[in-house]
Amino acid sequence: MNHHRLDLEALADQLLRELFPICRSLSGDGVRQSLSILARHAPLTMLEYPSGTPCFDWTIPREWNARAAWIKDAQGRKVVDFGQSNLHLVSYSVPFRGTLTWEELAPHLHTLPRLPRAIPYRTSYYREDWGFCLSQEQYETLDRQGRYEVCIDSELKDGSLTLAEARLAGASGREYLFSTYCCHPSLANDNLSGLVLTTLLCRELAGRSRRHAYRFVIAPETIGPIAYLAQHQEEMRRLAGGFVVTCVGGPGPLGYLETFLGDHQIDRVARQAFRELGVEPLSYPFAPNGSDERQYSSPGFRIPMATICKDKYFAYDFYHTSLDDLSFVKAGQIMQTLEVYLRAVDILERDEVLVSANPHGEPQLGRRGLYPQLGGKLLPRPAALAATSGTGLPPPELDEVDAILWIMFLADGKHSLLDMARRSGAPFGQLRRLAGVLLAEGLLRRAEDNA
Ligand code: ZN
Repeated sequence: MNHHRLDLEALADQLLRELFPICRSLSGDGVRQSLSILARHAPLTMLEYPSGTPCFDWTIPREWNARAAWIKDAQGRKVVDFGQSNLHLVSYSVPFRGTLTWEELAPHLHTLPRLPRAIPYRTSYYREDWGFCLSQEQYETLDRQGRYEVCIDSELKDGSLTLAEARLAGASGREYLFSTYCCHPSLANDNLSGLVLTTLLCRELAGRSRRHAYRFVIAPETIGPIAYLAQHQEEMRRLAGGFVVTCVGGPGPLGYLETFLGDHQIDRVARQAFRELGVEPLSYPFAPNGSDERQYSSPGFRIPMATICKDKYFAYDFYHTSLDDLSFVKAGQIMQTLEVYLRAVDILERDEVLVSANPHGEPQLGRRGLYPQLGGKLLPRPAALAATSGTGLPPPELDEVDAILWIMFLADGKHSLLDMARRSGAPFGQLRRLAGVLLAEGLLRRAEDNA
């Protein structure tokens, strides 16, 4: 393992620990604090959209902050305390103070009998309400005859919605998007892992020379992308595609949620990245009940968005509970997912459409020193694609002459190097290298309107 990777993993670990305890929500100081920590490590800029701003069918809500929230029993003991876990308070709870009977209190308590030790995660963003979440085990110990003192020291005010963006320039005229959401409180996989991975990816790409432009958006789920799209309509319609980065750090297998098109360039690039890493991901078809692709890919924008994940939302037991913590998510797991994203970007950066300068019959390779000295050869090696999937090993390179024949055969202006890799089973990097030789020999030229 190289030093650079170890540095990134150490930074991921540091960010996980630093951000996990912070109370994030749709808006408020916890979001601001989280984004400003991330902005120390990547070129992110903060955006504030004022409450009441209309954006398409929505309006920016009031800003929410909570200082304290607790329930005390008849003996004055705090039996539930937001100070212990920010999951204890239903997010966006309105301020409340009072003394209640069990019958009055119980409708405001939320538990998860399926996981009796877990505190569930609940929100009440768009309906004025208050509530507490606690484990089923704790709920059962509470005195049904007792009276309870309840305090929610929260505030809903005209403030703003906080987002962060980064824009990395590129020369190709094509721009890709990475978006993640910052509205969940102390939940590690959903979606602190997404915040950390997106920051590392942004930091990494910012330090590289780039052919394409990349835009990073960190925003509260749903309302954040809607607000961002409303503020950047024309630019966003021009985006070529991208990824919604969510749930990327669990202990389970890697997964792939395809774009609404299913076979867009983004899908082809992502699938090739998995293939090259020898990973067979769990595969999820597009569905309209997912994450922020619901906004980016909506009919008015239609930006194809996919997700490379590790323990996808809905698909793991601890989803939206206090068990989705830092014993479930580790920096090393985030690094495995980051590797797939980086490989996908690498393919995007180096892919292009190449056209044969010698399309009539095949070129004479021997005359150019591109053919092995001996005529005749052993049986051509078959495409190794299926054989390495799931083994963690990259597909082996093809015989060089075979690889050159694939390139020259497919160089009709309709196939990019990525398409050629998919078709031939050769690693993308081998075709990229040989294409360089063929370009230098004048056997290929670059297509004018290039991917
Ligand atoms: Zn969630």
